[in-house]
Amino acid sequence: MRQSIWKAAAQKISFPSLNENISTEIAIVGGGITGVTAAYLLARSGRKVVLLEAGTISGGTSGDSTGNLYAMVDKRLHHIQSKWSKETAANVARSRGEAVNLVEELVKRHQIDCSFKRVPWYLFSETEKKDRTIEKEIEAAAHYGLPVEELHELPLPIKVSTAIKADGQAQFNPAAYVKGLAEKIDSTNCRIFENSEVYHIEKEEELVLSTAKGTVTAQKVILATHTPKGIYGLQTALYPYREYAIAARLNSGDFPDGIYWDTEADFHTSMRTYRKGNDNYVLVLGGHHKVGQEDDYNRFYRKLEQNARRYFDVADIEYEWSAQHYKPADGLPYIGESSDDNIYIATGFSTDGLTYGVLSAMILDDQLNGRKNPWSDLYKASRFTPVKSARNFIKENINVAKQYLKNLPGKAEAESFDEIAAGQGKVVEVDDEKWAVFKDENGQVHCRSAVCTHMDCIVDWNDAEKSWDCPCHGSRFKATGEVIEGPAFSPLDKRNT
Ligand SMILES: Cc1cc2nc3c(=O)[nH]c(=O)nc-3n(C[C@H](O)[C@H](O)[C@H](O)COP(=O)(O)OP(=O)(O)OC[C@H]3O[C@@H](n4cnc5c(N)ncnc54)[C@H](O)[C@@H]3O)c2cc1C
Repeated sequence: MRQSIWKAAAQKISFPSLNENISTEIAIVGGGITGVTAAYLLARSGRKVVLLEAGTISGGTSGDSTGNLYAMVDKRLHHIQSKWSKETAANVARSRGEAVNLVEELVKRHQIDCSFKRVPWYLFSETEKKDRTIEKEIEAAAHYGLPVEELHELPLPIKVSTAIKADGQAQFNPAAYVKGLAEKIDSTNCRIFENSEVYHIEKEEELVLSTAKGTVTAQKVILATHTPKGIYGLQTALYPYREYAIAARLNSGDFPDGIYWDTEADFHTSMRTYRKGNDNYVLVLGGHHKVGQEDDYNRFYRKLEQNARRYFDVADIEYEWSAQHYKPADGLPYIGESSDDNIYIATGFSTDGLTYGVLSAMILDDQLNGRKNPWSDLYKASRFTPVKSARNFIKENINVAKQYLKNLPGKAEAESFDEIAAGQGKVVEVDDEKWAVFKDENGQVHCRSAVCTHMDCIVDWNDAEKSWDCPCHGSRFKATGEVIEGPAFSPLDKRNT
């Protein structure tokens, strides 16, 4: 099934869609872990809040994640230390640890049924080549007071050279948690609307958010949309990647819960266990690439299955899915007021955003209540870090500049609609214009402009997800042109044959 194991299993709740014009103090756009936690905290502190979600609560990346919560970071703490400082890396670990504690506190207080449990985190090398990475992370983690130990065996059937284990991290079902928390938000202070996509924000004396059937006028807006919607200079420092996941049902093997990360550079994978009913699963994630820049998207699923079968007695691959993340240029997320007055953002989480999303909500709750937050300067959205950002900034923006070459004449994938198979899409040149043409299973052709409505890059057909993906800033559109995710507000423009 091409759906995450969490989304398939999470309880159904539903909120109405917006059908009127209303006013509030704070409008939150996005009902993932960031938006829902921010709504919970702000409503708890007495602020009037409206949350607008384009689809359903936790229907974005949060519901497609692995469900791991940890103080460490995907990029490794020792990298943060060498790019920034020991103190910064220590503060990253501390602030993230506090966010994990908040999740645990809320799960306990509200009895949220989301399989939350404290588990160990492991980082391992399969060959001696990567042992130095492990050693550096052990040194860094020990320095920050994290409870680490060195191992040479894992409780999984994987032969390792060296591993680091840190107790006290956590796991849950992210979709069940976000939905469960949304139900516990103080409804006297917060109204939640699903299926209410914001397609425009007008910056008047106050901010006016437009949806199809109503508007919300607010003094402050939080864009909890994973990446900010619209055009922001910050987007030159945010790099969109896709990553793949499978949930393999096991014939045999009942392994201890934990977060297991390998250090392989070419196909880094993360694994975790999960029990659903009487079945044991192993989730295997990995294989990231820049959005819209692949020839064979399905190859990642095949490689993950191969990896799973190499180590485990796999019955079948019951779920497979992919999701997006945004890497920040200088290694830290951007949280706080954006370059637009009264619009707050929380983005650049890489694959660590369940914890960073909760941390963002804690920071924004303090900021919007006029309280000092110990971490707000560290993650300030308006920071300028040219030296720390330079390497990624230059590499990624040269890559973006190259994508714009696809706008030139003669760079289409097909010359006629006949070259497109049923269920597939191709970029076709029609009257000197690039069209995104999708042929559905009945042979009906759907034509849209191939020019991304965010910043005019040419979109790419993603054969695994049946979507049009923008290789510049990560906007994604359905085969028929509607926005799925990313910074674009508007669908691909319609074209008639
Ligand atoms: C494969 C993968 C695995 C991951 N695993 C982990 C993990 O184990 N641990 C971890 O810490 N992090 C993980 N991450 C990262 C983490 O999932 C994300 O950083 C986090 O979920 C982001 O949460 P969010 O609430 O900011 O965004 P989302 O969950 O994406 O929520 C944003 C919401 O905004 C809505 N929205 C967008 N545009 C509009 C609009 N115009 N109007 C209204 N609503 C709108 C969307 O529909 C969506 O529901 C993983 C990422 C990937 C790709």
